[in-house]
Amino acid sequence: MGFPVVGAAAGADRAWAWVGGLGLLVITAFLLLPNPTASAVMYDGIEFACVAAMVAGVRRNRPAAVAGWSLLIAGQAASVVADIMFDVYALVLHDDSWPGPWDVAYLISYLGTISGLCGLLLRRNRGRGYAGFVDSLLVGVAFALLSWVFLIRYIAAGETMGTLGHVVTLAYPCLDLVVLVLVLWLLTTDGKRRAAFLLLVAGMATALIADHLWAFVDMTSYDPALSVGRYVSASYLLSFLLLAMAITHPGMVAVGLPTPAPVTRPMSWQRLGLLAGAVLIAPALLAWQALTGNGTVRDALPIAVASAAMFLLGLTRMTMLVRRLHRQARVMQQQAERLRELAEQDPLTGLPNRRTWDSALPAALVRAGRDGTPVSVAIIDLDHFKAFNDRHGHQMGDRLLKEAAAVWADGLRDGDLLARYGGEEFVALLPDADETEATRVLDRLRRRTPMGCTFSAGLAIWDGRESGEALLHRADRALYRAKAAGRDRVERAQAAAPGPRSMDLAPGSPELQESLRHLG
Ligand code: GH3
Ligand code: MG
Ligand code: MG
Repeated sequence: MGFPVVGAAAGADRAWAWVGGLGLLVITAFLLLPNPTASAVMYDGIEFACVAAMVAGVRRNRPAAVAGWSLLIAGQAASVVADIMFDVYALVLHDDSWPGPWDVAYLISYLGTISGLCGLLLRRNRGRGYAGFVDSLLVGVAFALLSWVFLIRYIAAGETMGTLGHVVTLAYPCLDLVVLVLVLWLLTTDGKRRAAFLLLVAGMATALIADHLWAFVDMTSYDPALSVGRYVSASYLLSFLLLAMAITHPGMVAVGLPTPAPVTRPMSWQRLGLLAGAVLIAPALLAWQALTGNGTVRDALPIAVASAAMFLLGLTRMTMLVRRLHRQARVMQQQAERLRELAEQDPLTGLPNRRTWDSALPAALVRAGRDGTPVSVAIIDLDHFKAFNDRHGHQMGDRLLKEAAAVWADGLRDGDLLARYGGEEFVALLPDADETEATRVLDRLRRRTPMGCTFSAGLAIWDGRESGEALLHRADRALYRAKAAGRDRVERAQAAAPGPRSMDLAPGSPELQESLRHLG
């Protein structure tokens, strides 16, 4: 069963290439056809076939963004209806009144195209913000200005067309601008840009170019029989063909898919160049008209309006960027705080860890040396903790560590420091506490040890000059003696080797400075 299915799928995957090849052959034939009536029939036939291929493509590829694609195809279908109406009126009924009923169908076709593109964009751009839209709008405004100066103002100046004629004729270039902005927006999106996407963009771009070619040919009295007109028609056919290829291509399903992960890419040079070019169009036109018009600027108002719009869009874009920067900075700050916490905290007990202790101890000694106050340091070690673990299990052991840490920390003053040194060993730093005071505090903590446990502690009072390491070493020796003497007690360390103490040295004296330098 597997083979025919695979074969059919592979054949269907190439359908878009067949559509493209055949389509190009037929369009070439259309260009060579001498008879205007026959060529009009052929033109409508090719368009119809392209729309049929589009419908077949959507039915086979089953894209998620089916509404967007369907509206886009409905737009193309409306355009075919409009072309057929136009030809029937012109060639059969010999009615060349203007504007005609076909214009309604043409305008409906724009609605289909625009809403279809919006449908695809909303899915493809989901959750990705509107920066690309603002950029596209900015380029659209620049293009609108060009369009006004070189095209629309001439159409608007036509005197014989009446109000309806004006509205209809001006609607086309305006709707083209909307399509242009949407196609540009599509190009700024992050999703995959495979063949189907490029064919879709090429198809829309070809239609826009064809519309402008038509407008220029129309301004210079268009005749379908003329070869220029034939080429304009061929470019419309090409745009239909490109869309048919895009929709029959199996990759079309990815066009309406959102980009999975939000990646922030730097703005490409192409986009930056396009934006720079767009904003420079207004001053360039202004300078050009001022220089060639002996100081009078013909399109001063449109240039001013377009400049203001572009300024505001640039400002909008900048505000969006600054807001995003703020959001990112806030997230980064929160992450930095969390990282610092993680780096300084013991994960089990939540107490400061050994890293924090190692930097806090020398700082406390320097402070005490300056102020001439005492500092007590103790190493606290749970008694028979291994046996506790063995009897009650490791998890209970963890609970004891947590609860003991909380109870002990609670029994200390502000400014005291209790840190987990490792395993079941803790260290306490008691600034401003002499031996009597420190012993009292430690005995109190010992009695509070939870779950019926006890600890032994070695207590050392800073001698005013020794390093933190030496101080801790003395406390450790005292702890060893406390264990040896039967545990559940606080043992005082032996005095350090004699020498001048920093608290006995004169404040600001070189001896004190020297002594403090060695503490770390
Ligand atoms: P002593 O009274 O001589 O201090 O005996 P002790 O059993 O407390 O000391 P020992 O150093 O022999 O054992 C310490 C035990 O602490 C061994 C180890 O399994 C346990 N331990 C170290 N870190 C943790 C921990 O994070 N959680 C738990 N549950 N146990 C730990
Ligand atoms: Mg131990
Ligand atoms: Mg122990």
